[in-house]
Amino acid sequence: MQLVRRHLVPPELDHELIWLTVSFGSLAFAAIWLALGLPWPRCAFHDVTGLPCATCGMTRSAIQFFHGNLFAALRWNPLVFVALCGLSIFDAYAFVVLVARAPRVRIARFSSAEKAFVRALVLTSLAANWGYLLLHWRSF
Ligand SMILES: [Zn+2]
Repeated sequence: MQLVRRHLVPPELDHELIWLTVSFGSLAFAAIWLALGLPWPRCAFHDVTGLPCATCGMTRSAIQFFHGNLFAALRWNPLVFVALCGLSIFDAYAFVVLVARAPRVRIARFSSAEKAFVRALVLTSLAANWGYLLLHWRSF
């Protein structure tokens, strides 16, 4: 795997613009939803079993994160906390390269072994996160 910096070549997708727009659009949608007092998402798995699913605590973690309560966000759902940290870094990067019309960072030569490693890392992280949530099931 190698990271390269280069300018976009038409008709290449502008991932920075797309995902920054999706990120801010989602944040605005969620903020309006909560400001209007609309019902929070319910977890069918938790309703049936009484135990948290692998994504339980996402909403509470995100709310704590965006209020600056980072430790509380981490406690509600560690994987969501890590994802929001990564998303924040990506959003800052995307904003800078879009405004400055700077070269974009792309992954080159992503081997199948590296892809397999990333898949295993994601699955292990999901399982470890769910294990954490199950150990703290009384919070849900
Ligand atoms: Zn759930």
